[in-house]
Amino acid sequence: MATAEDGGPVLVVGAGPVGMTAALAVRAAGLPVLVLEAVARDRVRPGSRALFVHRRSLRLLERVRPGLGTRIAAYGTTWRTRRTLYRGREVFAQTFPRVSGDGAADLPAFTSPRQVDTERFLHEACADAGVEFRFDAGVNEVRVAGDGVTVTAEDGGSWRAGHVIAADEARSGVRRALGIPLEGTRSEGCHVVVDVADPPGGDLPMERVFHCEHPGTGGRTVLRVPFTGGFQIDLRCRADDPPESFGTEKAVRRWLPRLVGEHRAHQVLWVSRYHFLRKVAGSFADPSGRVLLAGGAAHLFPPFGARGMNSGIADAVAAAEAVSAACSEPSRGPAMVAGYASARRSAALHSSEAAGAALDHLRPRPWKRATQRAAAALSPVIPRCGEWLERAPYGSRGGPARGY
Ligand SMILES: Cc1cc2nc3c(=O)[nH]c(=O)nc-3n(C[C@H](O)[C@H](O)[C@H](O)COP(=O)(O)OP(=O)(O)OC[C@H]3O[C@@H](n4cnc5c(N)ncnc54)[C@H](O)[C@@H]3O)c2cc1C
Repeated sequence: MATAEDGGPVLVVGAGPVGMTAALAVRAAGLPVLVLEAVARDRVRPGSRALFVHRRSLRLLERVRPGLGTRIAAYGTTWRTRRTLYRGREVFAQTFPRVSGDGAADLPAFTSPRQVDTERFLHEACADAGVEFRFDAGVNEVRVAGDGVTVTAEDGGSWRAGHVIAADEARSGVRRALGIPLEGTRSEGCHVVVDVADPPGGDLPMERVFHCEHPGTGGRTVLRVPFTGGFQIDLRCRADDPPESFGTEKAVRRWLPRLVGEHRAHQVLWVSRYHFLRKVAGSFADPSGRVLLAGGAAHLFPPFGARGMNSGIADAVAAAEAVSAACSEPSRGPAMVAGYASARRSAALHSSEAAGAALDHLRPRPWKRATQRAAAALSPVIPRCGEWLERAPYGSRGGPARGY
């Protein structure tokens, strides 16, 4: 059997936004770090995906690499108007005043770059901070023994380290090797997500628009969110919609013009489908306290509410802090890691509950649908009804205001 390479005190598995944030936080604590990534260095990840980076995340990024949160905020789009419509009629609109930023102390409430752009900034920051990467290293074996962990990749390469932070997404090779289950539910019916390019000076207003039962899609609900260079459309299909009716590129070219104009049907950058998943790992660390799970390896939430990447960034920083404390005071290591696992798992369960509330609103049962219809009818006279229609799809009991 080949001897394991010395991976240093901390290995990170997965070079997504969570893994790179964890690596930066480890470097900020003055420790070396190696990131193992399954795919090639030059892979290009498609799609806007997580395009809502909350101020809390920007602050954490700023803390682990000064200037990083500010750079991402400056690149991203901060739209100031949110609007909710019900069957073609506006029921809620709000425009926030422009706040002039003065650097890190005054980061915006959120910013919307595409996830691929956030990852580019993170990667540059990692290079500056001296994070090392090994690409084409898909980890599929983990052995915890004595005072460390040995991980082995599919090609036979292996590394030994004091601690491992696993940020290797939902199908996490590390989590599976440890036998930790991912528990939760998957919704019926899928969502179609479409990125559309909007050239500089594009004519669509910089607004986030939630349209409940859009008449242009046969009553399916649609969300439009701007990002730097375009906008993302999320269409909620019915449980019995076959994929070819809404979820293919050909189908998108058919329904998109009714939402955003004929000329944009040719500016589609990406089409994808997803199901609402609400899943949380049974534990966020192995029993020995040597391996910590973070981000998509530990939890999956629906995009509504923007809890996925934002909570992953919070996990990453907390995991790195627990590990660096364990490195400087090894006798307290297991307690530090147990504290991480307990705090971040309860944050994930809270987010999962909030996402469930959002789901009840987005896939309403008949009585909820009737309540929505009544709220829309009453909104001109009782503005709070319109506000409820605006807020409920994001899970009113969770999200940015309550933390992730
Ligand atoms: C349509 C859509 C919209 C979304 N919108 C939002 C949003 O607005 N806000 C938000 O916060 N979140 C959002 N999310 C969720 C967000 O994209 C994820 O939460 C985020 O990508 C998780 O980051 P991660 O680093 O944990 O995992 P990933 O980004 O999946 O990265 C994991 C990395 O690990 C690598 N890897 C996998 N297996 C292995 C292995 N065995 N060994 C080594 N490396 C491995 C992968 O190649 C990848 O590079 C959205 C998701 C979707 C699909």
